[in-house]
Amino acid sequence: MANATPGTGFPVRVRFCPSPTGNPHVGLVRTALFNWAYARRHGGTFVFRIEDTDAARDSQESYEQLLDAMRWLGFDWDEGPEVGGPHAPYRQSQRMDLYRDVAEKLLAGGRAYHCYCTTEELTERREAARAAGRPSGYDGHCRDLTAEQVAAYRAEGREPIVRFRMPDETITFVDLVRGELTFTPENVTDYGIVRANGAPLYTLVNPIDDALMEITHILRGEDLLSSTPRQIALYQALMDLGYAKFVPEFGHLPYVMGEGNKKLSKRDPQASLNLYRDRGFLPAGLLNYLSLLGWSLAPDRDIFTMDEMVAAFDLTNVNPNPARFDLKKAEAINADHIRQLDPKAFVEACGPWLRAPHAPWAPEDFDPAAFEAIAPQAQTRVTVLSDITANVDFLFLPEPVWDETSWNKAMKEGSDALLTTARAKLAALGDDAWRADELKAAVLAAGEEHGLKLGKAQAPVRVSVTGRTVGLPLFESLEVLGRERTLARVDAALARLAA
Ligand code: GLU
Ligand code: ZN
Repeated sequence: MANATPGTGFPVRVRFCPSPTGNPHVGLVRTALFNWAYARRHGGTFVFRIEDTDAARDSQESYEQLLDAMRWLGFDWDEGPEVGGPHAPYRQSQRMDLYRDVAEKLLAGGRAYHCYCTTEELTERREAARAAGRPSGYDGHCRDLTAEQVAAYRAEGREPIVRFRMPDETITFVDLVRGELTFTPENVTDYGIVRANGAPLYTLVNPIDDALMEITHILRGEDLLSSTPRQIALYQALMDLGYAKFVPEFGHLPYVMGEGNKKLSKRDPQASLNLYRDRGFLPAGLLNYLSLLGWSLAPDRDIFTMDEMVAAFDLTNVNPNPARFDLKKAEAINADHIRQLDPKAFVEACGPWLRAPHAPWAPEDFDPAAFEAIAPQAQTRVTVLSDITANVDFLFLPEPVWDETSWNKAMKEGSDALLTTARAKLAALGDDAWRADELKAAVLAAGEEHGLKLGKAQAPVRVSVTGRTVGLPLFESLEVLGRERTLARVDAALARLAA
């Protein structure tokens, strides 16, 4: 069979199945990326499914953010919301009847049962088990209730949950990332699949959909590892009932660690995808960085495109050890991707940061030709696209905003004399000679007259004209700014120094 996988013999189908709660976070993106790359690498199908069975936590806003994020990142999905597919609908909230049917069949076949225990009773017994040093999972209390016991509970008005009956056997599977794993029955006890109010739970709906959608490889975070033996047992029941054709393979992606070696939590500000978007990460730069959280292309290669990742991606090179989220490295990789854009693409990518609300200048003062002229200087220097605004604002603001710290740092005893000389030498250049090399020679010569090296001589000029001590190469900046505006700004600085 085409694209057959060794484990299942079925064509590769993977899924990304987030719940629409809160804002998309980087952990989620890493999971989507590894699934997508695996599908693309193996000519498989990438299914995007929305696990919105928790009405209390899910929101339409989150759902829309997820779709928007997936599009921004450039992931294409073969089946899922908006594109449809043979297993539609791909939102679990639209599949509830199906889950109820399966739950009924599991009950009818004795693979699941009603559990009448109250939360208090469960807690009490769990604590007693712990105190006695016994395993503290569900104790099987309601596994084989008699008709009288059931009637008595019902008479008390208890509403049962549905619990899946785990087989009393050890479950072993080969994790695609971690190798062989074994779970003994004491550690994997019967678990809830339908709430007392009839709402099916993740534990039920996720394997049902994976089975019906014929998912062959389940790649997800390590936090879900403990649910895997449960799901494998449920799969076996689903196979018996004819809902599943095979048990999929599982690979658990390593934890992502944040500050202080704590797991990066989705509530961590560093984890929010929107933060990276708003700062002007390129999708390619962010994805490149996130791919390194548990994977590597080669020991000496940190920078690559998604095409290169896809060509090389496999699970054998996913590392089970926790991966540390390193913002500095993410920025450095992003800066590299920015440098690699062709100049036109860079100009285009800067677009949003050259307009309100990011840009402090009036829209009519923005000059696209001036921006294009200076852009190559900026392209090699910005880490994230939002850096562009402060780098070029001197071109589009009517006056430079003199940063006081910068001013005080650059303007020393004698700066007025130096600026006066520099102004004269600059003014001597006509419009035709207003080029970076000539400008540099003028400031160099002015410095020499005052016994200053170029670096020291250009600092007061830079602050006068741009407002800051650091920025793009000065003489290229002055060339683009033009003769008239440059001289006017030096005059304004001289006036301030004289005041
Ligand atoms: N909806 C689940 C989550 O977001 C999916 C887990 C899984 O991949 O099985 O945690
Ligand atoms: Zn019970």
